[in-house]
Amino acid sequence: MLRLPSFRLEQPDTLPQALALLDQAGPEAAVLAGGTDLLPNMKHELRRPSVVIALSRVKGLTGIAEAADGAIEIGAMTPLAEVAQSALVARALPALAQAAALVAGPQLRQRGTLGGNVLLDTRCQYVNQSHFWRSALGFCLKKDGTVCHVVAGGSRCVAAASADTVPALMTLGAVLEVARHDRTRQLPIDAFFVADGIVNRRLEPTELLTRVRVPRPAAGHRGAYGKLRERGSIDFPLLGVAARLDLSEAGVVEHADLVLTSLAAAPRRVAGAADALRGSAPGHAPAEFETAVRRVAELARRQCRPLPNLPGDHEWRGEMVPVYARRTLLAAAAGQGPVHHV
Ligand SMILES: Cc1cc2nc3c(=O)[nH]c(=O)nc-3n(C[C@H](O)[C@H](O)[C@H](O)COP(=O)(O)OP(=O)(O)OC[C@H]3O[C@@H](n4cnc5c(N)ncnc54)[C@H](O)[C@@H]3O)c2cc1C
Ligand code: SF4
Repeated sequence: MLRLPSFRLEQPDTLPQALALLDQAGPEAAVLAGGTDLLPNMKHELRRPSVVIALSRVKGLTGIAEAADGAIEIGAMTPLAEVAQSALVARALPALAQAAALVAGPQLRQRGTLGGNVLLDTRCQYVNQSHFWRSALGFCLKKDGTVCHVVAGGSRCVAAASADTVPALMTLGAVLEVARHDRTRQLPIDAFFVADGIVNRRLEPTELLTRVRVPRPAAGHRGAYGKLRERGSIDFPLLGVAARLDLSEAGVVEHADLVLTSLAAAPRRVAGAADALRGSAPGHAPAEFETAVRRVAELARRQCRPLPNLPGDHEWRGEMVPVYARRTLLAAAAGQGPVHHV
């Protein structure tokens, strides 16, 4: 049985208390939301914080609300199950609702939070293992070692960004509200992730994610999420695809986006997708739309090369890139989704 290392537990009641504790403890501290990622990582000795600051008692960090300008604001501590079941999210932000509903299994979605999902650590088949397992391999760059087992001779960790909700939030232009004891800042999610599997996000150790703000898309918005995984009941994504299509009143695509995850350390936007789809009309000229979708799927295939960082055959994951890109775009156009196998 894997045991948790010892630590001091802090359970602040208010945000200022939590931020003050974080300020005092600095990099020694870990923030605990639902704990469904942090606690396994601590048991695997990937993290050994001396202080764990639990957010469960902090008021004001949960809930889904509509702001005066129509934006949808979701507290960082809102359980994924609530995001998945929210009628407001399902109506206005379908890709996010679908992605949240496909994270892990039902128990983990009750416990796991949206904030914890955005801040999910990167994953790799050579690192999400017990200390004993990793020691037998000689460790790696991400923790305790000097080599990468995925890229021979590599000097950079390429563990995979694996959070299901992040690609959906990227297509939706979400803004992250991040607080420190002396200030709050707003950060577009596009600027938040970096291609470094050791730490892939721009969050200072003394900062907390407090809220995710999503501008409300216009009436013709369509979105969908596609997820490839080994077992439909629980697994992390081997590939995640979020698609966005914004249609005019006449049914013509005015804006489009496609973001993939589970490739390397940061999610990837398919360059050229918006240009290829703009002007097509799924309802009026489905054959032309399908041609544009195939063009985008081919762009995704060329730009997104999964690495052998996750379990399963990475070449097969690569073959699935255009398949999931195409199916997810078609599902979005039809107002359907998610795309996954059970
Ligand atoms: C069996 C299993 C299957 C899973 N499958 C999936 C899956 O399919 N897809 C998927 O995306 N995830 C999956 N997960 C991972 C996890 O359950 C989810 O990502 C969940 O959303 C994490 O949220 P949490 O609240 O439990 O995060 P925690 O574990 O509490 O935190 C995650 C990280 O974020 C930090 N953190 C959390 N909240 C904040 C905050 N507000 N401010 C600053 N830092 C913060 C923590 O310090 C930690 O580093 C799985 C986990 C398990 C155990
Ligand atoms: S990508 Fe390489 S360095 Fe990063 S966790 Fe995997 S084996 Fe370790």
